[in-house]
Amino acid sequence: MRQPTDELADLEQRGLLRSLKVLDSPQGASIELGGQTVVNFSSNDYLGLTQHPRLKAAFSEAIDNYGVGSGASRLISGTQQPHQRLEESIAAHKGHQAALTFSSGFATASGAIPALFGKDDYIILDKLCHACLVDGARASGATMRVFPHNDLGKLESHLQWATAKASADSRILVLTESVFSMDGDLAPLAEIVELKDSHDALLWVDEAHALGVLGPAGRGLAAELGVETRIDFLMGTFSKAAGLSGGYLCASRAWIDCLINRARSFIYSTAPSPALAHTITEAIDLIASPEGDQLRTNLRSHIDHLAPDSPTPIIPHIVGENEPTLALAADLLAAGYYVPAIRYPTVPRGSARLRITLSAAHSADNVQSLRGHLG
Ligand SMILES: *Cc1c(COP(=O)(O)O)cnc(C)c1O
Repeated sequence: MRQPTDELADLEQRGLLRSLKVLDSPQGASIELGGQTVVNFSSNDYLGLTQHPRLKAAFSEAIDNYGVGSGASRLISGTQQPHQRLEESIAAHKGHQAALTFSSGFATASGAIPALFGKDDYIILDKLCHACLVDGARASGATMRVFPHNDLGKLESHLQWATAKASADSRILVLTESVFSMDGDLAPLAEIVELKDSHDALLWVDEAHALGVLGPAGRGLAAELGVETRIDFLMGTFSKAAGLSGGYLCASRAWIDCLINRARSFIYSTAPSPALAHTITEAIDLIASPEGDQLRTNLRSHIDHLAPDSPTPIIPHIVGENEPTLALAADLLAAGYYVPAIRYPTVPRGSARLRITLSAAHSADNVQSLRGHLG
Protein backbone atom coordinates (compact mmCIF):
# COMPACT_ATOMS: atom_id res chain seq x y z
CA MET A 1 0.00 0.00 0.00
CA ARG A 2 1.25 3.51 -0.81
CA GLN A 3 1.85 5.48 2.36
CA PRO A 4 0.69 9.10 2.75
CA THR A 5 4.21 10.04 3.91
CA ASP A 6 5.54 8.98 0.46
CA GLU A 7 3.15 11.38 -1.22
CA LEU A 8 4.18 14.19 1.11
CA ALA A 9 7.87 13.56 0.47
CA ASP A 10 7.19 13.63 -3.26
CA LEU A 11 5.34 16.95 -3.03
CA GLU A 12 8.12 18.42 -0.92
CA GLN A 13 10.76 17.36 -3.41
CA ARG A 14 8.86 19.07 -6.25
CA GLY A 15 8.44 22.33 -4.27
CA LEU A 16 4.69 21.71 -4.09
CA LEU A 17 4.16 20.93 -0.41
CA ARG A 18 1.70 23.27 1.27
CA SER A 19 0.82 23.80 4.89
CA LEU A 20 -1.57 25.93 6.88
CA LYS A 21 -0.54 29.27 8.30
CA VAL A 22 -2.38 30.40 11.39
CA LEU A 23 -3.01 34.12 11.83
CA ASP A 24 -2.64 35.49 15.34
CA SER A 25 -4.76 38.52 14.50
CA PRO A 26 -8.00 39.27 12.64
CA GLN A 27 -7.93 39.46 8.84
CA GLY A 28 -6.87 42.94 7.71
CA ALA A 29 -4.36 45.19 5.96
CA SER A 30 -1.83 44.18 8.64
CA ILE A 31 -1.78 40.74 10.20
CA GLU A 32 0.27 38.81 12.77
CA LEU A 33 1.95 35.79 11.28
CA GLY A 34 4.56 33.64 13.03
CA GLY A 35 5.22 36.31 15.67
CA GLN A 36 5.74 39.03 13.07
CA THR A 37 3.44 41.90 12.03
CA VAL A 38 3.28 42.02 8.25
CA VAL A 39 1.41 44.03 5.64
CA ASN A 40 -1.04 41.62 4.11
CA PHE A 41 -1.36 41.40 0.32
CA SER A 42 -3.01 37.99 0.28
CA SER A 43 -6.70 38.32 1.12
CA ASN A 44 -9.71 38.65 -1.18
CA ASP A 45 -11.22 41.12 1.29
CA TYR A 46 -11.13 43.79 -1.45
CA LEU A 47 -13.26 46.35 0.39
CA GLY A 48 -12.18 45.54 3.95
CA LEU A 49 -15.68 44.36 4.83
CA THR A 50 -14.54 41.40 6.99
CA GLN A 51 -13.98 43.97 9.77
CA HIS A 52 -16.64 46.57 8.93
CA PRO A 53 -18.37 47.94 12.08
CA ARG A 54 -21.80 48.01 10.44
CA LEU A 55 -21.54 44.34 9.45
CA LYS A 56 -20.17 43.29 12.83
CA ALA A 57 -23.12 45.02 14.51
CA ALA A 58 -25.60 43.46 12.05
CA PHE A 59 -24.14 40.00 12.69
CA SER A 60 -24.41 40.23 16.49
CA GLU A 61 -27.88 41.73 16.35
CA ALA A 62 -28.98 38.93 14.01
CA ILE A 63 -27.56 36.34 16.42
CA ASP A 64 -29.73 37.86 19.16
CA ASN A 65 -32.75 37.62 16.87
CA TYR A 66 -32.22 34.24 15.20
CA GLY A 67 -29.64 32.32 17.22
CA VAL A 68 -26.35 31.02 15.89
CA GLY A 69 -27.36 28.15 13.60
CA SER A 70 -30.16 27.10 11.25
CA GLY A 71 -30.68 23.57 12.59
CA ALA A 72 -31.89 21.93 9.37
CA SER A 73 -31.44 21.77 5.63
CA ARG A 74 -33.20 24.34 3.47
CA LEU A 75 -36.00 21.99 2.28
CA ILE A 76 -36.83 20.77 5.80
CA SER A 77 -37.03 23.63 8.32
CA GLY A 78 -33.78 25.50 7.62
CA THR A 79 -35.24 28.27 5.43
CA GLN A 80 -35.95 31.41 7.43
CA GLN A 81 -36.84 34.93 6.41
CA PRO A 82 -33.20 36.10 6.22
CA HIS A 83 -32.51 33.41 3.57
CA GLN A 84 -35.51 34.48 1.54
CA ARG A 85 -34.66 38.19 1.84
CA LEU A 86 -31.05 37.51 0.82
CA GLU A 87 -32.12 35.57 -2.29
CA GLU A 88 -34.55 38.32 -3.29
CA SER A 89 -31.96 40.99 -2.74
CA ILE A 90 -29.16 39.29 -4.68
CA ALA A 91 -31.54 38.55 -7.60
CA ALA A 92 -32.60 42.23 -7.61
CA HIS A 93 -28.97 43.41 -7.33
CA LYS A 94 -28.14 41.31 -10.42
CA GLY A 95 -31.31 42.08 -12.40
CA HIS A 96 -32.33 38.40 -12.50
CA GLN A 97 -35.69 36.70 -11.80
CA ALA A 98 -34.48 34.49 -8.98
CA ALA A 99 -31.46 33.40 -6.97
CA LEU A 100 -30.43 30.49 -4.81
CA THR A 101 -27.73 30.59 -2.13
CA PHE A 102 -25.38 27.78 -1.10
CA SER A 103 -22.94 27.29 1.76
CA SER A 104 -20.01 28.33 -0.45
CA GLY A 105 -19.14 29.35 -3.98
CA PHE A 106 -17.51 25.95 -4.39
CA ALA A 107 -20.72 24.16 -3.40
CA THR A 108 -22.66 26.38 -5.82
CA ALA A 109 -20.78 25.38 -8.96
CA SER A 110 -19.83 21.84 -8.01
CA GLY A 111 -23.44 21.09 -7.04
CA ALA A 112 -25.50 23.09 -9.53
CA ILE A 113 -23.72 22.21 -12.77
CA PRO A 114 -24.22 18.41 -12.45
CA ALA A 115 -27.81 19.05 -11.30
CA LEU A 116 -28.67 20.75 -14.61
CA PHE A 117 -26.37 19.07 -17.15
CA GLY A 118 -25.81 15.42 -17.95
CA LYS A 119 -24.40 12.93 -20.42
CA ASP A 120 -26.40 14.17 -23.41
CA ASP A 121 -25.07 17.68 -22.93
CA TYR A 122 -21.96 19.64 -23.96
CA ILE A 123 -19.90 21.89 -21.71
CA ILE A 124 -17.32 24.24 -23.21
CA LEU A 125 -15.05 25.95 -20.71
CA ASP A 126 -12.17 28.40 -20.50
CA LYS A 127 -8.83 26.75 -19.70
CA LEU A 128 -8.36 28.95 -16.60
CA CYS A 129 -11.76 28.24 -15.03
CA HIS A 130 -11.73 27.78 -11.24
CA ALA A 131 -11.55 24.25 -9.80
CA CYS A 132 -15.21 24.34 -8.70
CA LEU A 133 -16.39 24.91 -12.30
CA VAL A 134 -14.12 22.16 -13.58
CA ASP A 135 -15.31 19.72 -10.89
CA GLY A 136 -18.96 20.58 -11.58
CA ALA A 137 -18.50 20.05 -15.31
CA ARG A 138 -16.68 16.73 -14.77
CA ALA A 139 -19.28 15.46 -12.30
CA SER A 140 -22.07 16.20 -14.79
CA GLY A 141 -20.87 13.53 -17.22
CA ALA A 142 -21.40 15.96 -20.12
CA THR A 143 -18.95 15.92 -23.03
CA MET A 144 -16.36 18.61 -22.27
CA ARG A 145 -14.22 20.80 -24.48
CA VAL A 146 -11.70 23.35 -23.17
CA PHE A 147 -10.78 26.53 -25.08
CA PRO A 148 -7.50 28.40 -24.54
CA HIS A 149 -7.93 31.32 -22.13
CA ASN A 150 -10.24 33.98 -23.64
CA ASP A 151 -9.79 32.54 -27.18
CA LEU A 152 -13.03 33.51 -28.93
CA GLY A 153 -12.10 31.78 -32.21
CA LYS A 154 -11.63 28.45 -30.48
CA LEU A 155 -14.78 28.96 -28.42
CA GLU A 156 -16.70 29.52 -31.66
CA SER A 157 -15.32 26.39 -33.28
CA HIS A 158 -16.19 24.32 -30.19
CA LEU A 159 -19.71 25.78 -30.32
CA GLN A 160 -20.03 24.78 -33.99
CA TRP A 161 -18.80 21.29 -33.15
CA ALA A 162 -21.26 20.93 -30.25
CA THR A 163 -24.18 22.28 -32.30
CA ALA A 164 -23.45 19.71 -35.00
CA LYS A 165 -23.34 16.83 -32.48
CA ALA A 166 -26.20 17.90 -30.21
CA SER A 167 -29.59 16.22 -30.35
CA ALA A 168 -32.81 18.26 -30.08
CA ASP A 169 -32.84 17.70 -26.31
CA SER A 170 -29.18 18.44 -25.63
CA ARG A 171 -28.07 21.49 -23.68
CA ILE A 172 -24.88 23.29 -24.63
CA LEU A 173 -23.22 25.30 -21.85
CA VAL A 174 -20.34 27.76 -21.97
CA LEU A 175 -18.52 28.21 -18.64
CA THR A 176 -16.27 31.15 -17.82
CA GLU A 177 -15.37 33.69 -15.15
CA SER A 178 -15.68 37.45 -15.43
CA VAL A 179 -12.52 38.23 -13.43
CA PHE A 180 -9.99 35.38 -13.50
CA SER A 181 -8.90 34.61 -9.97
CA MET A 182 -5.18 34.03 -10.50
CA ASP A 183 -4.51 36.47 -13.39
CA GLY A 184 -6.89 39.28 -12.52
CA ASP A 185 -7.80 39.78 -16.17
CA LEU A 186 -11.30 40.00 -17.66
CA ALA A 187 -13.30 37.77 -19.99
CA PRO A 188 -14.66 39.38 -23.19
CA LEU A 189 -18.18 38.84 -21.89
CA ALA A 190 -20.07 40.90 -24.49
CA GLU A 191 -18.53 38.84 -27.33
CA ILE A 192 -19.13 35.57 -25.49
CA VAL A 193 -22.80 36.50 -25.01
CA GLU A 194 -23.14 37.12 -28.77
CA LEU A 195 -21.49 33.80 -29.58
CA LYS A 196 -23.61 31.74 -27.20
CA ASP A 197 -26.81 33.42 -28.46
CA SER A 198 -25.97 32.75 -32.08
CA HIS A 199 -25.37 29.06 -31.28
CA ASP A 200 -28.40 28.61 -29.04
CA ALA A 201 -26.16 27.77 -26.10
CA LEU A 202 -26.43 28.67 -22.42
CA LEU A 203 -23.85 30.76 -20.59
CA TRP A 204 -22.62 30.43 -16.98
CA VAL A 205 -20.39 33.22 -15.64
CA ASP A 206 -18.61 33.14 -12.27
CA GLU A 207 -18.34 36.68 -10.87
CA ALA A 208 -16.56 35.62 -7.65
CA HIS A 209 -13.94 38.39 -7.89
CA ALA A 210 -16.16 40.99 -9.56
CA LEU A 211 -19.02 41.36 -7.08
CA GLY A 212 -18.41 44.53 -5.07
CA VAL A 213 -15.35 45.46 -7.14
CA LEU A 214 -16.51 46.19 -10.70
CA GLY A 215 -19.57 47.73 -12.31
CA PRO A 216 -22.19 50.23 -11.21
CA ALA A 217 -22.96 49.78 -7.49
CA GLY A 218 -20.39 46.94 -7.47
CA ARG A 219 -22.77 44.73 -9.47
CA GLY A 220 -19.94 43.10 -11.41
CA LEU A 221 -18.47 43.04 -14.91
CA ALA A 222 -21.66 41.77 -16.60
CA ALA A 223 -23.51 44.84 -15.28
CA GLU A 224 -20.69 47.13 -16.39
CA LEU A 225 -21.00 45.73 -19.92
CA GLY A 226 -24.81 45.75 -19.85
CA VAL A 227 -25.10 41.99 -20.48
CA GLU A 228 -26.23 40.88 -17.01
CA THR A 229 -29.68 39.65 -17.99
CA ARG A 230 -28.39 37.91 -21.12
CA ILE A 231 -26.28 35.56 -18.99
CA ASP A 232 -28.34 32.48 -18.15
CA PHE A 233 -26.46 31.56 -14.96
CA LEU A 234 -24.71 34.30 -13.05
CA MET A 235 -22.88 32.97 -9.99
CA GLY A 236 -20.63 34.42 -7.35
CA THR A 237 -19.57 34.25 -3.76
CA PHE A 238 -20.05 36.32 -0.63
CA SER A 239 -16.61 35.22 0.58
CA LYS A 240 -14.54 37.76 -1.36
CA ALA A 241 -15.48 41.48 -1.49
CA ALA A 242 -18.63 40.90 0.61
CA GLY A 243 -16.34 39.80 3.46
CA LEU A 244 -18.47 36.85 4.65
CA SER A 245 -19.04 33.40 3.16
CA GLY A 246 -21.53 31.57 0.97
CA GLY A 247 -22.25 31.26 -2.76
CA TYR A 248 -25.12 32.32 -5.00
CA LEU A 249 -26.52 31.62 -8.41
CA CYS A 250 -28.92 33.95 -10.26
CA ALA A 251 -31.07 32.53 -13.06
CA SER A 252 -34.68 32.28 -14.25
CA ARG A 253 -37.30 31.06 -11.75
CA ALA A 254 -37.58 27.73 -13.59
CA TRP A 255 -33.84 26.97 -13.44
CA ILE A 256 -33.74 27.90 -9.75
CA ASP A 257 -36.75 25.64 -9.04
CA CYS A 258 -34.93 22.77 -10.79
CA LEU A 259 -31.95 23.34 -8.51
CA ILE A 260 -34.09 23.36 -5.37
CA ASN A 261 -35.22 19.89 -6.47
CA ARG A 262 -31.96 18.50 -7.81
CA ALA A 263 -28.77 20.16 -6.54
CA ARG A 264 -27.29 17.75 -4.03
CA SER A 265 -24.98 20.35 -2.41
CA PHE A 266 -28.11 22.41 -1.72
CA ILE A 267 -30.50 19.66 -0.67
CA TYR A 268 -28.22 17.58 1.54
CA SER A 269 -26.49 20.40 3.41
CA THR A 270 -27.61 22.31 6.48
CA ALA A 271 -28.81 25.81 5.70
CA PRO A 272 -26.30 28.57 6.41
CA SER A 273 -26.90 30.35 9.71
CA PRO A 274 -29.77 32.84 9.36
CA ALA A 275 -27.59 35.44 11.11
CA LEU A 276 -25.03 34.99 8.33
CA ALA A 277 -27.74 35.31 5.66
CA HIS A 278 -28.98 38.50 7.31
CA THR A 279 -25.47 39.96 7.45
CA ILE A 280 -24.82 39.14 3.78
CA THR A 281 -27.93 41.13 2.82
CA GLU A 282 -26.48 44.08 4.78
CA ALA A 283 -23.15 43.61 2.98
CA ILE A 284 -24.87 43.68 -0.45
CA ASP A 285 -26.62 46.85 0.64
CA LEU A 286 -23.35 48.40 1.78
CA ILE A 287 -21.64 47.40 -1.48
CA ALA A 288 -24.38 49.20 -3.45
CA SER A 289 -24.32 52.34 -1.24
CA PRO A 290 -22.31 55.58 -1.68
CA GLU A 291 -19.92 54.20 0.95
CA GLY A 292 -19.36 51.20 -1.31
CA ASP A 293 -18.56 53.61 -4.18
CA GLN A 294 -16.05 55.39 -1.93
CA LEU A 295 -14.36 52.09 -1.01
CA ARG A 296 -14.12 51.19 -4.72
CA THR A 297 -12.58 54.60 -5.43
CA ASN A 298 -9.94 54.02 -2.71
CA LEU A 299 -9.25 50.53 -4.04
CA ARG A 300 -8.88 51.83 -7.59
CA SER A 301 -6.39 54.48 -6.47
CA HIS A 302 -4.24 51.72 -4.88
CA ILE A 303 -4.40 49.70 -8.13
CA ASP A 304 -3.44 52.80 -10.16
CA HIS A 305 -0.44 53.26 -7.93
CA LEU A 306 0.91 49.70 -8.16
CA ALA A 307 -0.30 48.48 -11.57
CA PRO A 308 -2.17 51.15 -13.55
CA ASP A 309 -2.96 48.77 -16.41
CA SER A 310 -4.64 46.20 -14.18
CA PRO A 311 -8.44 46.14 -14.45
CA THR A 312 -8.74 44.50 -11.02
CA PRO A 313 -7.04 44.38 -7.59
CA ILE A 314 -5.52 40.97 -8.44
CA ILE A 315 -1.97 41.60 -9.62
CA PRO A 316 0.06 38.52 -10.59
CA HIS A 317 3.84 38.73 -10.53
CA ILE A 318 4.78 35.68 -12.61
CA VAL A 319 8.16 34.09 -11.80
CA GLY A 320 7.90 30.66 -13.50
CA GLU A 321 9.51 27.89 -11.45
CA ASN A 322 8.43 26.95 -7.94
CA GLU A 323 11.68 27.39 -6.00
CA PRO A 324 12.50 30.99 -7.04
CA THR A 325 8.86 31.95 -6.48
CA LEU A 326 9.01 30.58 -2.94
CA ALA A 327 12.35 32.32 -2.36
CA LEU A 328 10.94 35.68 -3.50
CA ALA A 329 7.89 35.25 -1.25
CA ALA A 330 10.22 34.42 1.67
CA ASP A 331 12.32 37.56 1.03
CA LEU A 332 9.22 39.73 1.00
CA LEU A 333 7.96 38.10 4.18
CA ALA A 334 11.27 38.79 5.93
CA ALA A 335 10.88 42.43 4.87
CA GLY A 336 7.37 42.56 6.37
CA TYR A 337 5.10 41.88 3.37
CA TYR A 338 2.95 38.79 3.07
CA VAL A 339 2.43 38.00 -0.62
CA PRO A 340 1.50 34.37 -1.28
CA ALA A 341 3.33 32.17 -3.78
CA ILE A 342 0.83 30.36 -6.00
CA ARG A 343 1.90 27.11 -7.62
CA TYR A 344 0.59 24.18 -9.63
CA PRO A 345 -2.14 22.88 -9.53
CA THR A 346 -3.77 26.25 -8.75
CA VAL A 347 -1.99 27.73 -11.79
CA PRO A 348 -0.47 25.91 -14.80
CA ARG A 349 2.99 24.32 -14.40
CA GLY A 350 5.81 26.78 -15.15
CA SER A 351 3.71 29.83 -14.24
CA ALA A 352 4.29 29.93 -10.48
CA ARG A 353 3.74 33.45 -9.27
CA LEU A 354 3.26 35.88 -6.46
CA ARG A 355 -0.39 36.87 -6.30
CA ILE A 356 -0.70 40.38 -4.93
CA THR A 357 -4.18 41.45 -3.92
CA LEU A 358 -5.05 45.00 -2.94
CA SER A 359 -7.78 46.13 -0.60
CA ALA A 360 -9.50 49.41 0.22
CA ALA A 361 -8.31 48.64 3.76
CA HIS A 362 -4.67 49.26 2.71
CA SER A 363 -3.19 52.70 3.23
CA ALA A 364 -1.44 54.56 0.40
CA ASP A 365 1.76 54.00 2.40
CA ASN A 366 1.28 50.21 2.44
CA VAL A 367 1.04 50.17 -1.36
CA GLN A 368 3.89 52.66 -1.84
CA SER A 369 6.27 50.60 0.29
CA LEU A 370 5.41 47.31 -1.47
CA ARG A 371 6.06 49.08 -4.77
CA GLY A 372 9.47 50.19 -3.51
CA HIS A 373 10.27 46.62 -2.53
CA LEU A 374 9.25 45.03 -5.81
CA GLY A 375 11.51 47.54 -7.57
C1 LIG B 1 -13.08 31.69 -4.51
C2 LIG B 1 -13.74 31.26 -5.78
C3 LIG B 1 -14.83 30.38 -5.75
C4 LIG B 1 -15.26 29.67 -4.49
O1 LIG B 1 -15.99 30.49 -3.66
P1 LIG B 1 -16.01 30.13 -2.09
O2 LIG B 1 -17.19 30.87 -1.60
O3 LIG B 1 -14.73 30.63 -1.54
O4 LIG B 1 -16.17 28.65 -1.99
C5 LIG B 1 -15.47 30.13 -6.93
N1 LIG B 1 -15.06 30.66 -8.10
C6 LIG B 1 -13.99 31.48 -8.17
C7 LIG B 1 -13.58 32.03 -9.48
C8 LIG B 1 -13.29 31.79 -7.00
O5 LIG B 1 -12.21 32.57 -7.07
